[in-house]
Amino acid sequence: MIRNTLLLASAFAIPATAAGQSATFSPQRLSQHVQTLGSDAFEGRAPATAGETKTVQYISDQLRAAGVQPGGDLVNGQRQWTQAVPLLKSEWTANPQVAMTIGGKATPLTQGEQIAVRSPTNGDKGLNIDDAELVFVGYGVKAPERNWDDYKGLDARNKILVMLVNDPDFEGGEGDFGGKAMTYYGRWTYKYEEGARQGAKGVLVIHETEPASYGWPTVKNSNTITMFDIVRDNPAAEHPALEGWIQSTLAAQLFSASGTSFEAMKAAAKRRDFKPVPLRATLDVRGDARTEVVTSHNVVGILPGAKRPDETVIYSAHWDHLGIGPADARGDRIYNGAIDNGTGVGHIIEQARAFAAGPRPERSVVFLLVTAEEKGLLGSEYYATHPLYPAGKTAGAINTDVLGVIGPARDYSVRGNQKFGLLDLLQDEASKRGRRFTPDPNAGTGTFYRSDHFTFAKAGIPALTFTPGRDAINGGKARGDAWEVTYRTNMYHQPADEFSPSWDFTGMAQDAELLHAVGLRLANSKDWPNWSQDSEFRAKRDDSAAERAAPAPGERG
Ligand SMILES: [Zn+2]
Repeated sequence: MIRNTLLLASAFAIPATAAGQSATFSPQRLSQHVQTLGSDAFEGRAPATAGETKTVQYISDQLRAAGVQPGGDLVNGQRQWTQAVPLLKSEWTANPQVAMTIGGKATPLTQGEQIAVRSPTNGDKGLNIDDAELVFVGYGVKAPERNWDDYKGLDARNKILVMLVNDPDFEGGEGDFGGKAMTYYGRWTYKYEEGARQGAKGVLVIHETEPASYGWPTVKNSNTITMFDIVRDNPAAEHPALEGWIQSTLAAQLFSASGTSFEAMKAAAKRRDFKPVPLRATLDVRGDARTEVVTSHNVVGILPGAKRPDETVIYSAHWDHLGIGPADARGDRIYNGAIDNGTGVGHIIEQARAFAAGPRPERSVVFLLVTAEEKGLLGSEYYATHPLYPAGKTAGAINTDVLGVIGPARDYSVRGNQKFGLLDLLQDEASKRGRRFTPDPNAGTGTFYRSDHFTFAKAGIPALTFTPGRDAINGGKARGDAWEVTYRTNMYHQPADEFSPSWDFTGMAQDAELLHAVGLRLANSKDWPNWSQDSEFRAKRDDSAAERAAPAPGERG
């Protein structure tokens, strides 16, 4: 409770905006952006395609017309509208050949069936693994701040680490990892990164539907296709050679051949004294990959601050979607992404217009439309690791990814269940408007780690992804929930996510006004919201505290 009180005290130190509306947003303009970006002419906005060229042009033109300045790469002393984002693309030339020797018995495996092996992104042109030893490492977690280490000095070199998905207290356990809610230690991306830090040859995550929150078809579909990553100076520091998943039935075979069982290993993995268990199994993989570097772009506009231009507030949304792909039942092959994320992009363009029209805030406001979110949050990760404006002096980031089209709602939400000062600020502005906060009902499935605010959070920047409410003024929660089911089932990541003239943009305009008030208040304050003491992002933010402590030149004495 003390922690919350402190956070609130910090948020309320920020001067409140005057009563009433902070800005006015046009539902008509929002609708126009979504219709244009979601039209077939934009070809589903896949990175590094003709669809990208059109999209980048449209957003740059709109930001210019909105009255903000280019905020991207500095070329010959001039900011461009874009930040170039080099991406490594990697795909199998043919299905890799995979086999295990389990308890002395040769067992061929089929890519996509018992195992899903990702095309390598560690810089290699394929995989050539012979007789690599398998070791079970529990949840594969090394969390010094939680006094947890599943490796206990294991020499992981040349070994394949087999680990459970989610974190050690998902099914109860000795550590504190937020209970059912997932910490970053539970995400598969963390598990690969930790495997690379341990120097392992590979990581295989054991799939189970409940702790993963999705079935094997999702694992198969998203791990056997073309892989992308940002181009890294040392990709092997982030990626082991082999990254993949195995079915739980195969894991059970591995355990029983090693004289134990799935149940026994799961029980052991919940304990702080868990030690790695060598498995009586080895792995062989052979496959060739085609790799190349392609260039995509983030689009960036800026409104320089009147008093402290070196301090920034970011509004962000991803512009990319899935491009052209397999036809649906109607024969449609264009994945328009009108809602995901034409809505978020339209919203950021209109924020730029509102900020440019109002009195200039003290801090700079950056309008950042990122690429390759659908390929693993890559555009925002590139920005966070190659920041155009220092992360330590970025006061906060407000991200929008999928906004509402069913009119105004009584409530609103954000992704995940982190506690931080920026959320307090949002809640304060929302309550002034009579809006009710609904906690994310899906926080346990790791929603916090699945949108672009997360890569800002990893860099320590307080960041949220706003999500629209479901308690609709017109039709209540029943209508809001029904729309959510329709969207998830019939539209999400399908060609049917296509503009409809029946959509109501008045709720989005209302949400935009709320988010404008939050960003404006932050942009006119000297305060620096932070993460709660128990947040995994707090330490990273505190690392840059000295940057924020130094008074700006002109403000000395
Ligand atoms: Zn999205």
